[in-house]
Amino acid sequence: MNDLRELYQEVIFDHYRKPRNFGRLGMTNRKAEGYNPLCGDKVTIYLQVEDGIIRDAGFDGSGCAISTASASLMTDSLKGMREDEALRLMQEFQHMVTGTASGEGLGKLEVLAGVREFPQRVKCATLAWHTLQAALENQPQPVSMPVSTE
Ligand code: ZN
Repeated sequence: MNDLRELYQEVIFDHYRKPRNFGRLGMTNRKAEGYNPLCGDKVTIYLQVEDGIIRDAGFDGSGCAISTASASLMTDSLKGMREDEALRLMQEFQHMVTGTASGEGLGKLEVLAGVREFPQRVKCATLAWHTLQAALENQPQPVSMPVSTE
């Protein structure tokens, strides 16, 4: 288990140092901004959605290792996914990081399962996902994570 944890941490730091899909997309028809005041994480999610399918996904912003790695892993996972699948994945991810589900079957997103042991970091991990939801639902206001801890 310790080896696995170290491997997971390596993957998280790799995505932090070299975020995938970083930067605005050439073609974007959905966009939302999110902010996590607890940690200072900021993220903007860009999507290109056609016929209900996420053709491309990207993000920019600045934040801690967890928030950046989460946005990087998330945007990687979304490409080619239907909007409803993406929202279901968001819920499964949320259950994993809050500890109400194991996260088994979430593939590379499972590297963030360890966040459940650090409740104050859960919002860092879920910020990109809440912002994704706002982008898919065309919410005009930026997402601000509630300051209270769950
Ligand atoms: Zn953070």
